[in-house]
Amino acid sequence: MDIQHKLQSNFGLQSSNTLKFPAIAEYFIAVASEAELVSAVTYAKQHHLPIRILGGGSNVLMAPQIDGLVIRIDIMGQRVFESGDSVSILLGGGENWHETVRWSVERGLSGIESMALIPGRVGASPVQNIGAYGTELKDVLRTVRAYHVTSGRFVELSNSECQFAYRDSLFKHFPGEYIITEVELQLFRQQDASIRYAALQNYFDQQHITQPGVQQVFDAVCAVRRSKLPDPEILANAGSFFKNPVISEQQHQFIKQQWPNLIAYPDRPGFMKLAAGWLIDQCDWKGKGTANVGVYDKQALVLVHFGGGQLTELLQLAGEIQASVYVAFDVQLEIEPQAFPFN
Ligand SMILES: Cc1cc2nc3c(=O)[nH]c(=O)nc-3n(C[C@H](O)[C@H](O)[C@H](O)COP(=O)(O)OP(=O)(O)OC[C@H]3O[C@@H](n4cnc5c(N)ncnc54)[C@H](O)[C@@H]3O)c2cc1C
Repeated sequence: MDIQHKLQSNFGLQSSNTLKFPAIAEYFIAVASEAELVSAVTYAKQHHLPIRILGGGSNVLMAPQIDGLVIRIDIMGQRVFESGDSVSILLGGGENWHETVRWSVERGLSGIESMALIPGRVGASPVQNIGAYGTELKDVLRTVRAYHVTSGRFVELSNSECQFAYRDSLFKHFPGEYIITEVELQLFRQQDASIRYAALQNYFDQQHITQPGVQQVFDAVCAVRRSKLPDPEILANAGSFFKNPVISEQQHQFIKQQWPNLIAYPDRPGFMKLAAGWLIDQCDWKGKGTANVGVYDKQALVLVHFGGGQLTELLQLAGEIQASVYVAFDVQLEIEPQAFPFN
């Protein structure tokens, strides 16, 4: 398939990353089918161009100049297979994640309602195993279909083969190697009514809702998120800038002696997950920064770009935040968004 007419050179990506940093791709193509994807990869291989995969740009730290070929996955499609209470949906990698959640909720399906309003596309959702309010993608994902660049073949990976962990997966460890074209989710007609996060419970208490349905969970998540997180269309950001650090139970006890209000949740046995936003807040970063970049004044975990700034400014601020948290708590914060291009 000839895709050269779709190739663009020196393509601006400022509006294709939610931090809205200026960025120029050497070459860019948006692929709408697996056949176009294969042709684009073949072209890149023939011309010795590194391949960079892009979705909605909501979890990337874009460098000003991006060498090689940026391939955006625009592959659409929704297929539904029902069997009793269980419903399997196959989604093209270019589908919008939040619209997919809305679509499933409107059909009364349960499984992803608490992951409403996470920006980005379905194809990126397995990369960092997206999660919110007690649910992670790994809880509902059945299979991933991906193009394996080195072998030049399509592969189907099961849930366990994706090696999911907190904000982590196989795909993060082999960037550019697997290009996700389709994701299969397992949803349910019966709802799992567990409400695991206090923020949602407070919302239901205030609204006098005792047994929230799927639509009510969706509405609650949207309302709580809108009150806490800036809309990237209004104030550029990439969501949580740091991962919640996981530390040993022993270290947790040690920090808690000095900071009794420490916010932490149980992780795997013997480990606790700390609220990174709380740690940053204790170091008094909320609302601080420079004229161009800063820490969001309502949520210390979110770094924002007011406009006119560069990625280097944001990374400098992030470094200062990491240093102060390390001095105060002896905890190393890890940046969540991915370097683009990866190093
Ligand atoms: C306001 C805001 C709130 C957010 N809240 C959350 C949250 O609650 N929970 C959460 O987990 N995340 C959250 N995020 C982060 C982000 O929305 C998710 O990581 C999302 O899955 C990124 O999707 P994307 O399409 O924008 O990916 P991109 O940013 O375009 O790409 C992210 C990474 O995935 C790779 N990639 C993209 N598409 C593919 C593909 N098809 N195949 C292989 N690799 C691919 C890219 O190369 C890159 O390394 C938030 C972001 C914002 C801006």
